[in-house]
Amino acid sequence: VAIPLSAQPSPDAVIVGAGVLGCAIAFELTRRGCETLNVDRLAAAGHGSTGSSSAIVRGHYSTHDAVALAYESAERWRRWPDYLDADDESGHAQLVQRGSVLLKSSERHYAKVIPLYDEIGVPYVDWSVDELALAMPMLDVRSFGPPRRLTEPEFWHEPEHLLDGALFTPWSGYVNDPQLAAHNLQRAAEAHGGRFAFRQTLTDILVERGQVRGICLDDGSVVRTPIVVNVAGPHSAHVNRLAGADADMRVRTRPLRHEVHHLPAPPGVDFERDGLHVSDADLGIDFRPEAGNNISVGSEGPACDPKDWIDDPDDFKRHVTEAVWETQVFRLARRLPALRIPVARKGVADLYDVSDDWMPIYDRSAVEGFYMAVGTSGNQFKNAPMVGELMAELITRCSLGHDHDTDPVRIAGDSTGATINLGSFSRLRDLDRRTSLSAMG
Ligand SMILES: Cc1cc2nc3c(=O)[nH]c(=O)nc-3n(C[C@H](O)[C@H](O)[C@H](O)COP(=O)(O)OP(=O)(O)OC[C@H]3O[C@@H](n4cnc5c(N)ncnc54)[C@H](O)[C@@H]3O)c2cc1C
Repeated sequence: VAIPLSAQPSPDAVIVGAGVLGCAIAFELTRRGCETLNVDRLAAAGHGSTGSSSAIVRGHYSTHDAVALAYESAERWRRWPDYLDADDESGHAQLVQRGSVLLKSSERHYAKVIPLYDEIGVPYVDWSVDELALAMPMLDVRSFGPPRRLTEPEFWHEPEHLLDGALFTPWSGYVNDPQLAAHNLQRAAEAHGGRFAFRQTLTDILVERGQVRGICLDDGSVVRTPIVVNVAGPHSAHVNRLAGADADMRVRTRPLRHEVHHLPAPPGVDFERDGLHVSDADLGIDFRPEAGNNISVGSEGPACDPKDWIDDPDDFKRHVTEAVWETQVFRLARRLPALRIPVARKGVADLYDVSDDWMPIYDRSAVEGFYMAVGTSGNQFKNAPMVGELMAELITRCSLGHDHDTDPVRIAGDSTGATINLGSFSRLRDLDRRTSLSAMG
């Protein structure tokens, strides 16, 4: 007979959510001796938006702290079983380290990235367009940009110019099973005493005199705890409101619907073996190899595309729509001219939890003991290992009285030594104007 949560020992911290970030935070907190309890309304770890993630691991973000976070996290994905140091009966997720290319297009995201890579010490190769064509002969290396709707006649015009080349990062790629990665982190946290309660919905957060005291669940149980961490993904704004933690936030979060499509590689092309992850701002898509010699294609959210903002994260279309599928698949067909357009439309539709400037919020709040790792904006799966570490550090320091709002916590990356300033991810920041305002970050 299961002991009700309210009759079990009170945890030091409750983590709301058992997606990849909630599980990573549990792992890093338990490693520091903290007794954690993750509660999740779904049946298992990683069954929320994590399970739909393309799980691409790459470094080309727009700011120093975001690039450093991604590169340091990739280092942990590369040595995943050693990093976790815990068995999982389902095996371990794997980083498929095929490499990424960021195409050099007129949109010039690469021009922001190169100085950041140089400053931090991120390895990359600056390819000419001929080197790109040699490495990926299946690509049409002409410049089609800027991204357009299929209804614009210019979309179908033959371009006159070539791309300017590409930045190649051999260390990047994608994680083959994002849901399993979350499960691995759950098992690693459990090895240090972390507890997980599934099919339990948080309904309220108890706050007395500005301090967290506990949580209420939908079965009527109350769990006493001095610390609650909001890692509720697309439900983050709702959970912040339950705590009354949204009052001073200068950056807000809201759900955005996003589709990713899966289709067979062109005939005669072994994309699973020879394909790389391609970030193609020239056409507004990104794509990567997928098991079974398939290709997975998503949108980089170009300005010409409408955004599907969602009011209620429990009420959105879960199926692939014809309009978005056609847009992405035809854009892909321009870059991969041998692609056959399939009859069946396959893919996933799920939610991003988008912040106002598309940078995540990793922070404390005005409510003592209430923390948040939210606003992951379609690009934070890859950062889960480091987010676990920085949230654990933040929570530990703030619990000891450190004033993070006036003196932001900083951590140093193991592999580059680069300092990551957590103030960049503050809920009180001025909106970061350097970002791409898209999932590119
Ligand atoms: C289609 C898609 C593609 C993506 N591709 C990439 C990519 O290529 N690379 C990348 O780095 N990132 C990508 N992302 C983003 C990345 O997947 C997310 O940033 C990351 O998975 C978020 O993890 P999380 O743990 O914060 O949230 P989630 O995985 O959503 O977990 C939140 C959990 O909170 C639970 N919860 C919510 N409310 C409550 C409540 N009241 N009570 C109890 N439990 C609750 C939910 O059930 C859920 O399990 C993608 C996202 C999507 C949707």
